[in-house]
Amino acid sequence: MNVPDIIIAIDGYSSTGKSSFAKLVAKKFDFLYLDSGALYRGVTLFAREEGLISEGNVIDPLLEERLAGLDLHFNAEGKLCTGERCIEKEIRSMEVSSQVSPIAAVPYVRAFVDEKLREYGRKGRIVMDGRDIGTAVFPNAELKIFMTASEEVRAQRRFDELVSKGENPTLEDVVKNLRDRDYIDSHRETNPLRRADDAYGLDNTEMGFTEELAWIQGLIQGKFGIL
Ligand code: C5P
Repeated sequence: MNVPDIIIAIDGYSSTGKSSFAKLVAKKFDFLYLDSGALYRGVTLFAREEGLISEGNVIDPLLEERLAGLDLHFNAEGKLCTGERCIEKEIRSMEVSSQVSPIAAVPYVRAFVDEKLREYGRKGRIVMDGRDIGTAVFPNAELKIFMTASEEVRAQRRFDELVSKGENPTLEDVVKNLRDRDYIDSHRETNPLRRADDAYGLDNTEMGFTEELAWIQGLIQGKFGIL
């Protein structure tokens, strides 16, 4: 299928399978995939390692100044790095997950991440997932998707992912983390998580990758008149 050089924005609640779906779409249509959440996680890891966030999630205002010197970028394999160091594993930990939403609610952190995302977006032909891609980062994206799935399925997916990476969480902690993040993400003042008016809804509670792919192919064919 010959998909035009568009921006595909995928938003939704935590662990609804946005990044797996986005990667699938990128591979199928030969698009660049960008994980905006990874950048928020990268800033959170930085704040933790520099002692700029406490366990009670109090953020040191020094973070604003320190961000100016922070190099966060995706390498050729799409992995998040700071300088020479690849930080993909560290940014997915439960500790980072439990502090990322308060960090992502800070306006100067959002401005820092948005600038990077738009820079990558200039290349076009990208699929990006997050919470505010279709509403704030790329409000003119040609195709917007908003993903949902049942809480049970989301928690189990996240739990399995953490266990496969060698972590040892309880299902209860995972559920709490998803609820906390969704609440903070949808109630913050700056660019809260919400469905864009022109986004297509995708509930993948009972869908596998094959069905998801068939769904988006049908959507693209209909919307862009591609055979
Ligand atoms: O997508 P992921 O779950 O890795 O994102 C981690 C966190 O980053 C989210 O819980 C949310 O607080 C924040 N985020 C955001 N806006 C985005 C992407 C992620 O606020 N576009």
